[in-house]
Amino acid sequence: MKPLSSLLIIFLCLFVFGFKPYTTPVYITGHIKNNSKTLGVNAFISVFVKNGNRVIAKTTTNENGDFTLTFTPRKKSPFDFYCYSPFVETLLLESVDIFDNDTPDMTFYLPCEPKKDSLGKIICPKCHKADKVYPIEYGAPVYVRNANKHDNPSNKKISLGKYEAGTCTVSAARYYCDRDNIKF
Ligand SMILES: [Zn+2]
Repeated sequence: MKPLSSLLIIFLCLFVFGFKPYTTPVYITGHIKNNSKTLGVNAFISVFVKNGNRVIAKTTTNENGDFTLTFTPRKKSPFDFYCYSPFVETLLLESVDIFDNDTPDMTFYLPCEPKKDSLGKIICPKCHKADKVYPIEYGAPVYVRNANKHDNPSNKKISLGKYEAGTCTVSAARYYCDRDNIKF
C-alpha cells in the first residue's frame, strides 16, 4: 500500500471515529447550594446549559434548590451551566468538559467557588485564565476593578458597560471575565 493511501485511511478513521459526536443522553440530577453571604437564594432559579452559543437544556430548581436536566450532547464540550433569577442575574456556575457517567449527580455553588492559578489569582471557570478577570464592586453604578493591583498602579475602575445601568442591583456574582463576558 502506498504511504499516501495509508494516510488517507488514517484520516478517514479519525474523521469517522475520532470526531464522532456524543449521542447518548445525559440525565442530570443537580443541586444548587447557596454560597453567598448576602443572597440566600437557591429555590426557583432558572438553570440552563449552553453548548457553544445554543441553549440546549433549561429547567427550574425546586424549593430545595434541586433540579433535573436531560439533554443529548451532540456537539463538542464544554457545556456551560448557567443560572438566572431576578435576584442573581445570569451567572456561570460551571463549565463542564466531561460527564462522569450518563446519570451524573452534580452540585453547583451559587456563586461558584472560584479556582486560583499557581500565582494565587482567580481564574475564569470558562477560559481558565486570570488576565481578564475582575472583581465586581457593587454600588451605583456597577464597576469592576482590575484584579491585579500590581499590573494597574492607578487602580483605575473599569466600567462593566452594559451592566452599568443596574444601579441598585445586588448580585451574587463576585467576578467578571471580560474575555467571555460572563459573571461568576
Ligand atoms: Zn474567561
